[in-house]
Amino acid sequence: MTVTADPARRRVVEPAVATTRRLQGLAAIGWPADNLAGEMRVSPVTIRRLTAGQDCVTAHIAERARQLFEGLRDTPGPSEPTRRIAAARGYAPPETWDEADIADPRSQPRPARGRLNAVPTAAQPPASRRSARLPRPARAGGQHPLTAIPDGASLQLPCRDDPQDWFADTSDTEAIGRAKAGCRRCAIRRACLEHAIAHEKYGVWGGLDEDERAAELRRRRRAS
Ligand code: SF4
Repeated sequence: MTVTADPARRRVVEPAVATTRRLQGLAAIGWPADNLAGEMRVSPVTIRRLTAGQDCVTAHIAERARQLFEGLRDTPGPSEPTRRIAAARGYAPPETWDEADIADPRSQPRPARGRLNAVPTAAQPPASRRSARLPRPARAGGQHPLTAIPDGASLQLPCRDDPQDWFADTSDTEAIGRAKAGCRRCAIRRACLEHAIAHEKYGVWGGLDEDERAAELRRRRRAS
């Protein structure tokens, strides 16, 4: 699809509420950041930061996000892991927003009908049994931890509550430190890290930032 925006609005900054909700909505139906970044002609990091809840956005990027949202809102995306991560983080799918409300910070999404973002559910096991159900670490190309755990969408993941720390600017050491501390409390940290070493370029995953994961990947390649 063609996404355009007025270049004169590059320097106009506006609240990012609607843009964040649109990008979260597209993630909820399976559209990964890399695909959205390509369509909007911005970096995947920009998409991830906006999706995580950045405060402000330039008007021309907000307009591209609006056009993309309108073009894709009824089309399921290609990524089941993206859909599951979005469900775990509580992202509301596109159908739950009215255009009139989406930019209002006080508005809430309507209940979802669950058509495009359906995630298979399973009964939540008692907390004491959860660790026994965690998958062994996946090899490259393996499943995302949320895919591997049938009830992953209902786990209490620290990155669900305050996701912007997990995609903070790499110079923001306080936010990165908070994200790593959150990962250390996470029930699926090890499986998440194995997934991220193989599949995720940006942000904190499994307690390691992008440089640390790249270093770990190089170390494993040397050792193999
Ligand atoms: S290990 Fe960290 S990034 Fe992965 S699911 Fe847990 S809190 Fe989120």
